[in-house]
Amino acid sequence: MIQPQKNISIAQYTNYKIGGVARDVYFPKNTMELYETFVAIRKANTPFYILGGGSNVLVGDGYWDGAVIITTGMNPYKTFGDCIMCGAGLETSRVAEIALENGKTGLEFLYLLPGSIGGALAMNARYDMINISDVLIDFTAVHPEKGIKIFNKDEAGFAYKINSVAADGWYITEMSLRWENGNIETIRNRMDSIREKRDQGGHFEFPSCGCIFKNDYERNIQVGRLLDEMGFKGYTHGGSQVSNNHANFINNMNNATARDVLSIIEHIEHEVKTQKGIELQREVRLLGTF
Ligand SMILES: Cc1cc2nc3c(=O)[nH]c(=O)nc-3n(C[C@H](O)[C@H](O)[C@H](O)COP(=O)(O)OP(=O)(O)OC[C@H]3O[C@@H](n4cnc5c(N)ncnc54)[C@H](O)[C@@H]3O)c2cc1C
Repeated sequence: MIQPQKNISIAQYTNYKIGGVARDVYFPKNTMELYETFVAIRKANTPFYILGGGSNVLVGDGYWDGAVIITTGMNPYKTFGDCIMCGAGLETSRVAEIALENGKTGLEFLYLLPGSIGGALAMNARYDMINISDVLIDFTAVHPEKGIKIFNKDEAGFAYKINSVAADGWYITEMSLRWENGNIETIRNRMDSIREKRDQGGHFEFPSCGCIFKNDYERNIQVGRLLDEMGFKGYTHGGSQVSNNHANFINNMNNATARDVLSIIEHIEHEVKTQKGIELQREVRLLGTF
């Protein structure tokens, strides 16, 4: 039976490097072990949270009297002529590198996208207007009460930053993503240009979780631009600061606490609502006690 590690600091499993201690931490290696983990957790009636690469989650500073399940050990993959099958814990950027190594195109947009491929699919992550659901064939997921199921792309219901199966409490364990034969030099050039853009945008200068708020394409609101116009760049609270490169990023500049980051989030939400009448939607997920 899979056993948890006890009283582990979660900060080390997040991109922000912020967060308190969790009572139980599980590291399942495959679909069955995740299922077993759910059985153990349900028996003990323990609250739980799943983390992939922890690149889109702000973990509270307090003690989390529950379980955290970390998927990064679920990382095997297999390559085929027209697709790659990969475990949910595989690093997203590694998927793009594997495609390059195999001379396959279509997955370059995943390059340097922080986190795990399972987290990317749960969030329907995107880059350069390509969503991960655009290249999805199917995926396997586990539900704590409903068991294990394979979903094809059309069953899942994807929209901008939405995977309705994940929103319904299913946890992704593996998936197949489509690729096709490509020219290695073209693929590499595309990946180099992604690196250049992310470096220029200062994405990796300080720990962050990427964009805090979702854009609103229906009302044509680019949140980064809006927050920049409202003068938020450089706004500081404790050890955290709104990025000077991208006003929708809040960085951990100097041993920030989760409370520091959350204070900035709440301040921005309040100001945008009061000054512009706009209710921002959070992209960042919160875990634990603040
Ligand atoms: C510098 C930087 C740049 C970024 N750029 C982009 C970008 O260009 N585009 C973009 O879309 N995002 C971007 N992000 C946000 C983030 O990288 C993505 O959302 C990423 O796909 C999250 O993956 P993760 O494994 O880290 O998920 P986590 O942060 O671990 O989890 C995110 C959510 O997904 C859930 N989850 C995780 N794994 C699973 C699973 N296997 N099954 C079901 N639910 C799961 C978690 O419970 C949580 O609710 C950026 C982040 C950073 C730090």
